[in-house]
Amino acid sequence: MMNGLMKMRKRMMAMSLLYAFFVTMQLTESEAAVMDKDIQGTAVEHNWVEYSTDIKEMEVDTHDITYWKNLMRYTRTCTISHVIRTVVYYCDIHDHTKSETFLDDVIHSEKHSH
Ligand SMILES: [Zn+2]
Ligand SMILES: [Zn+2]
Repeated sequence: MMNGLMKMRKRMMAMSLLYAFFVTMQLTESEAAVMDKDIQGTAVEHNWVEYSTDIKEMEVDTHDITYWKNLMRYTRTCTISHVIRTVVYYCDIHDHTKSETFLDDVIHSEKHSH
Protein backbone atom coordinates (compact mmCIF):
# COMPACT_ATOMS: atom_id res chain seq x y z
CA MET A 1 0.00 0.00 0.00
CA MET A 2 2.71 2.47 1.08
CA ASN A 3 4.91 1.40 -1.80
CA GLY A 4 2.17 2.02 -4.31
CA LEU A 5 1.56 5.53 -2.98
CA MET A 6 5.28 6.36 -3.12
CA LYS A 7 5.47 5.15 -6.70
CA MET A 8 2.48 7.27 -7.63
CA ARG A 9 4.01 10.32 -5.96
CA LYS A 10 7.25 9.81 -7.84
CA ARG A 11 5.34 9.54 -11.06
CA MET A 12 3.37 12.69 -10.28
CA MET A 13 6.61 14.52 -9.56
CA ALA A 14 8.08 13.42 -12.86
CA MET A 15 4.91 14.42 -14.66
CA SER A 16 4.84 17.89 -13.11
CA LEU A 17 8.54 18.36 -13.83
CA LEU A 18 7.94 17.43 -17.44
CA TYR A 19 4.96 19.76 -17.54
CA ALA A 20 7.02 22.62 -16.04
CA PHE A 21 9.74 21.97 -18.58
CA PHE A 22 7.23 22.00 -21.41
CA VAL A 23 5.66 25.28 -20.23
CA THR A 24 9.10 26.89 -19.89
CA MET A 25 10.01 25.79 -23.39
CA GLN A 26 6.82 27.30 -24.80
CA LEU A 27 7.42 30.54 -22.93
CA THR A 28 10.94 30.87 -24.24
CA GLU A 29 9.71 30.23 -27.75
CA SER A 30 7.02 32.91 -27.61
CA GLU A 31 9.41 35.33 -25.93
CA ALA A 32 11.86 34.83 -28.77
CA ALA A 33 9.09 35.47 -31.29
CA VAL A 34 8.21 38.74 -29.54
CA MET A 35 11.85 39.79 -29.55
CA ASP A 36 12.14 39.02 -33.27
CA LYS A 37 9.10 41.17 -33.89
CA ASP A 38 10.60 44.04 -31.91
CA ILE A 39 13.85 44.03 -33.82
CA GLN A 40 12.59 43.35 -37.30
CA GLY A 41 9.33 45.24 -37.33
CA THR A 42 6.14 43.56 -38.48
CA ALA A 43 7.23 40.68 -40.68
CA VAL A 44 10.45 38.69 -40.76
CA GLU A 45 11.21 39.38 -44.38
CA HIS A 46 14.75 40.71 -44.12
CA ASN A 47 17.54 40.51 -41.64
CA TRP A 48 18.96 44.00 -41.97
CA VAL A 49 22.19 44.40 -40.06
CA GLU A 50 24.12 47.66 -39.96
CA TYR A 51 27.14 47.06 -42.16
CA SER A 52 28.93 50.38 -42.45
CA THR A 53 28.48 54.04 -41.68
CA ASP A 54 29.93 56.86 -43.73
CA ILE A 55 29.82 60.50 -42.65
CA LYS A 56 30.35 63.22 -45.27
CA GLU A 57 30.37 66.96 -45.03
CA MET A 58 28.99 68.72 -48.10
CA GLU A 59 28.92 72.43 -48.85
CA VAL A 60 25.40 73.14 -49.99
CA ASP A 61 24.98 76.91 -49.86
CA THR A 62 26.55 80.25 -49.05
CA HIS A 63 25.02 83.43 -47.78
CA ASP A 64 26.34 86.85 -46.91
CA ILE A 65 26.26 88.08 -43.38
CA THR A 66 26.75 91.69 -42.33
CA TYR A 67 28.04 92.85 -39.03
CA TRP A 68 29.26 96.03 -37.41
CA LYS A 69 32.69 96.51 -35.94
CA ASN A 70 34.17 99.83 -34.82
CA LEU A 71 31.30 101.68 -36.50
CA MET A 72 32.15 100.00 -39.78
CA ARG A 73 29.85 97.68 -41.66
CA TYR A 74 31.42 94.46 -42.86
CA THR A 75 30.15 91.71 -45.09
CA ARG A 76 31.32 88.18 -44.86
CA THR A 77 30.34 85.03 -46.66
CA CYS A 78 29.11 82.14 -44.59
CA THR A 79 29.25 78.63 -45.99
CA ILE A 80 26.48 76.24 -45.07
CA SER A 81 27.43 72.57 -44.93
CA HIS A 82 25.30 69.52 -44.42
CA VAL A 83 26.66 66.59 -42.46
CA ILE A 84 25.25 63.54 -44.21
CA ARG A 85 25.44 60.10 -42.70
CA THR A 86 24.99 57.12 -44.98
CA VAL A 87 24.28 53.79 -43.31
CA VAL A 88 24.57 50.60 -45.32
CA TYR A 89 22.60 47.57 -44.17
CA TYR A 90 23.20 43.99 -45.21
CA CYS A 91 20.60 41.22 -45.24
CA ASP A 92 22.14 37.74 -45.07
CA ILE A 93 18.83 36.02 -45.89
CA HIS A 94 18.73 37.36 -49.45
CA ASP A 95 22.37 38.52 -49.69
CA HIS A 96 21.60 42.14 -50.59
CA THR A 97 22.20 45.62 -49.22
CA LYS A 98 20.28 48.81 -48.76
CA SER A 99 21.40 52.24 -47.68
CA GLU A 100 19.79 55.09 -45.83
CA THR A 101 20.96 58.67 -45.60
CA PHE A 102 20.38 60.98 -42.69
CA LEU A 103 20.97 64.70 -42.35
CA ASP A 104 22.88 64.78 -39.10
CA ASP A 105 23.78 68.43 -38.85
CA VAL A 106 23.75 71.81 -40.61
CA ILE A 107 26.92 73.79 -40.06
CA HIS A 108 27.44 77.50 -40.69
CA SER A 109 31.10 78.40 -41.13
CA GLU A 110 30.54 81.80 -39.53
CA LYS A 111 29.10 82.29 -36.11
CA HIS A 112 26.07 84.51 -36.44
CA SER A 113 22.52 84.88 -35.32
CA HIS A 114 19.96 83.67 -37.85
ZN1 LIG B 1 16.46 40.63 -47.46
ZN1 LIG C 1 25.34 81.16 -41.88
